[in-house]
Amino acid sequence: MQWLFDHTGKRYLDLFAGIVTVSVGHCHPKVTEAAKKQMERLWHTTNIYLHSPIHKYAEKLTSIMPGKLKVAFLTNSGSEANDLAMLMARLHTGNFDIISLRSGYHGASPYTLGITSHSSYKPGLANGFGCHTTMCPDVFRGIWGGSHCRDSPVQTMRTCSCSPGSCNAKDRYIEQLKDTLDTSTTRKLAAFIAEPIMGVGGAIQYPKNFLKEAYELIRERGGLCIADEVQTGFGRTGSHYWGFQTHDVMPDIVTMAKGIGNGFPMAAIVTTEEIADSFSKALYFNTFGGNPMACSVGSAVLDVIEEDGLQNNCALVGTHLLLELAKLRDKYEIVGDVRGKGLMIGVEMVKDKKTLQPLPADEMGLIWEECKDNGVLFGKGGLYNNTFRIKPPMCITKEDADFAIAVFEDALIKHKATI
Ligand code: PMP
Repeated sequence: MQWLFDHTGKRYLDLFAGIVTVSVGHCHPKVTEAAKKQMERLWHTTNIYLHSPIHKYAEKLTSIMPGKLKVAFLTNSGSEANDLAMLMARLHTGNFDIISLRSGYHGASPYTLGITSHSSYKPGLANGFGCHTTMCPDVFRGIWGGSHCRDSPVQTMRTCSCSPGSCNAKDRYIEQLKDTLDTSTTRKLAAFIAEPIMGVGGAIQYPKNFLKEAYELIRERGGLCIADEVQTGFGRTGSHYWGFQTHDVMPDIVTMAKGIGNGFPMAAIVTTEEIADSFSKALYFNTFGGNPMACSVGSAVLDVIEEDGLQNNCALVGTHLLLELAKLRDKYEIVGDVRGKGLMIGVEMVKDKKTLQPLPADEMGLIWEECKDNGVLFGKGGLYNNTFRIKPPMCITKEDADFAIAVFEDALIKHKATI
């Protein structure tokens, strides 16, 4: 279900899914049933013992991974998964440096704070040793625009000098990555980590082929490539099961969390046998990772995505939403950019389209409140917290989308009248 109810019984369309987590819908009967059954059977043993739910889940998960990505490790959160991925990359390569993209978010543990570049999430003592960030290839707000180089039904209105098929913006961002590799790192590169579409960063999409060329460059320099699929995974982008597949790249390590358990705390990483073998040098222990409850829930989530055709629904409803939102962008000065793929959507709000100054927090807040009062819950994020994030349970319908668009447009009209 995609609806939430408050204490008065009023209902709200949930467009943020508990921060992109409730993937198949609140209290999905099949997932609830799986949790109940497992709860009556066995809750916990620690991963000292192999139990049938973990065995079944690891087989299911790895069966939907492409290429040589066939070994799964189970953890409890996205931060833990990314911690583990960094540790694996360092052990496998014998190198230490990790590169991530500015504006990205990868977790709040001491290790992952180093690769999370978003300053608002960094307490003063964030540990960034060995971590470097490179320029975020954002074709809307970045210094190089790209008017036709996103993998989305909607392109940015910012013009650029490149032509389809040969993107200057992409080449320039790759140059920046080269520069970071040459000047910031110690030339001992362990890994590059990036989300296929930025989540907390505000659904930022990179120019086509950026990730492909970035992966080639990283591998030339001896590093591994990590895809953070914490938000983009499990069919949310519509065209593929994993966001990295939309970029036609093959990571060495994939990390996943949030939607994996539909709200039940669990996470995973999947990697190759070679990398997993190097990792066996470390003594790794995780008390709750892969517990029977999480594995049973995770298995049911995978079944529901398949049985309810949710990936396809993401493509259909997501494209509809994006095209309708683009009409609002063309109509209202404060709607600066509409972007995304499937049900991973961002609407970046500006003071005006000429300066692209971010819409101030109080004005964002008024629009958000107005939508909430009229029954629609948006998420917020982005570098300046000026992007509405639409990442609902993957089961929302076209009718829900139309309701959300109508409520959003009313809020924009009201905003215009009061400013
Ligand atoms: N990676 C991404 C892309 C995320 O969005 C998040 C959480 N917002 C994390 C990692 C960290 O996940 P968790 O909060 O489960 O530790």
